[in-house]
Amino acid sequence: MNPGFTGSPLDRADRVRNDAEAYGALLGDWRARILGLNGLDPLLASEGGLLWHSIAELTGSEELILLGLSDGKPHFVPLVEADGGMFRSPAIWRALTMLPAEDAAIYGTARSLIEWHNSHRFCGKCGSVTEMFRAGWGRKCGNCGKEHFPRTDPVVIMLAEYEGRALLGRQSRFPPGNYSALAGFLEPGESIEEAVRREIHEEAGVTCGAVRYVTSQPWPFGGAQLMIACVADAKDDAITLDTDELEDAMWVTKEEAQAALANEEGRRFNAPPPFAIAHSLLKHWVTA
Ligand SMILES: [Zn+2]
Repeated sequence: MNPGFTGSPLDRADRVRNDAEAYGALLGDWRARILGLNGLDPLLASEGGLLWHSIAELTGSEELILLGLSDGKPHFVPLVEADGGMFRSPAIWRALTMLPAEDAAIYGTARSLIEWHNSHRFCGKCGSVTEMFRAGWGRKCGNCGKEHFPRTDPVVIMLAEYEGRALLGRQSRFPPGNYSALAGFLEPGESIEEAVRREIHEEAGVTCGAVRYVTSQPWPFGGAQLMIACVADAKDDAITLDTDELEDAMWVTKEEAQAALANEEGRRFNAPPPFAIAHSLLKHWVTA
């Protein structure tokens, strides 16, 4: 199982982030590659994959974030002023189905960093202007000196399981027929297991016991999230829907999930796309 947005081939090269001389050499490297973006959407090369520019195509006024090194070649993304919002544009959805997995991982990192910079232009402690440092992996306040670092928000995403069936739900914004695993942000003071049990109970009224970790993947939409996929043992199958969160929830069999993953004619529901962790989680569950 290779969850979406994982498998970047780039060496993150943390060692050069605080080394002004080494970083200066990377900025002056004519082999440097610059990620092509349209706003926050990726630009695709004609042969497929991400489009990279040469450093000669820059105007010189760009602020660059070091994504990492590949064969010694530095890969940067320019900081653009753009707000991706919580959800994906239709163009992104199409691009993601075409991007090789390792390119999606590079793109996800770049997008999350850009959104982080744009929402941390002012110091959270004193309100003054912050400036990029550490090769784009931090911002520093010009007034109080506080250093700010990119964060990732943990999200639990899970299947409740009861007598061989799994609980799926749909939000009203989903395309017709689409169902996915329930999900929600971890709250301060919660363990992964507690967040899984709380979210399932809040959204579907189902009480769960044991929780098993399955896998994780980054999710670069609406900031930087880490999706933590789990399966939880439900104590009963009576659903009490929170209609603010979900439009519908249902228990599905492994055969029904298999048919959805394979896009079979007559399937009961449409499965999430392969780059979403709910897809990997369902796939794990039907074969477990
Ligand atoms: Zn400050």
